[in-house]
Amino acid sequence: DTKVKRLDTAVDKLRIKRKDSNTLKVTENVFDDATLKSLYTLSNKGILQALGGSISTGKEANVFLGEGEEHDIAIKIYRISSSTFRSMEDYILGDPRFTNIRHNKRDIIFAWTKKEFRNLIRANEAGIRVPVPIITERNILIMEFMGENEKPFPALKDMRLELEDGKQIFETVIDDMHKLYTKASLVHGDLSEYNILIDTNDLTPIMIDMGQSVTLEHPRADIFLKRDIENILRYFKRFKIDETPESVYKRIKNT
Ligand code: ATP
Ligand code: MN
Repeated sequence: DTKVKRLDTAVDKLRIKRKDSNTLKVTENVFDDATLKSLYTLSNKGILQALGGSISTGKEANVFLGEGEEHDIAIKIYRISSSTFRSMEDYILGDPRFTNIRHNKRDIIFAWTKKEFRNLIRANEAGIRVPVPIITERNILIMEFMGENEKPFPALKDMRLELEDGKQIFETVIDDMHKLYTKASLVHGDLSEYNILIDTNDLTPIMIDMGQSVTLEHPRADIFLKRDIENILRYFKRFKIDETPESVYKRIKNT
């Protein structure tokens, strides 16, 4: 029918490899008409030269590899049909940067996409290794691709690390949390071994997934910070880290 035909045309236009059946399967439920339109817009601006394979299918978003103007890019597409937008609302409402948004699902998701973009900018400016964001278009965030040869860097959870390397990564993660708190005035809010990638060249941790990150004014900022600390200590315990939630909390707040 016409809908299938239009999707085919869109897929052709963005040069998705047809044999990549996995991508196509994902495409069909991610790319509603509005999202397709946004992809066109990005394609017409030259920001998106070609859409590559699927990197991840998460609870709220899909991530694709893409060809940018000069480098590979990561394309994070929040699903408009996402069922968790109620909890998104809680994070947006406590944030003074988003006071005038309308409370329908689409607008919350667009605001969420912008929030992740701005959070990544702030984190990058604070000197933390994060994917440098390039642009947003409605529910789509385009950012630097963190990987090599079209392969994303592994998540921390998938690394097998020597004790010394684990300790070194832990130190950098705590420094990053400190910079995020004191320089960017943000708390990540979902930090764990799942949302940290590792650059396999030099073992630098890369913080990702900052849609839910909140400014320090957020009424639950301190609760989120304590939860992030618990998650990080739970994971790094295996490297015989000599820190407690209290000592890490102090280090992050610089007290
Ligand atoms: P989940 O629900 O699984 O937590 P998510 O929807 O929250 O996923 P992210 O955590 O931002 O989305 O990204 C999901 C996965 O996509 C990451 O684990 C990583 O493998 C990949 N990814 C995200 N951003 C990038 C990037 N900039 N470069 C390379 N890979 C990326
Ligand atoms: Mn994630």
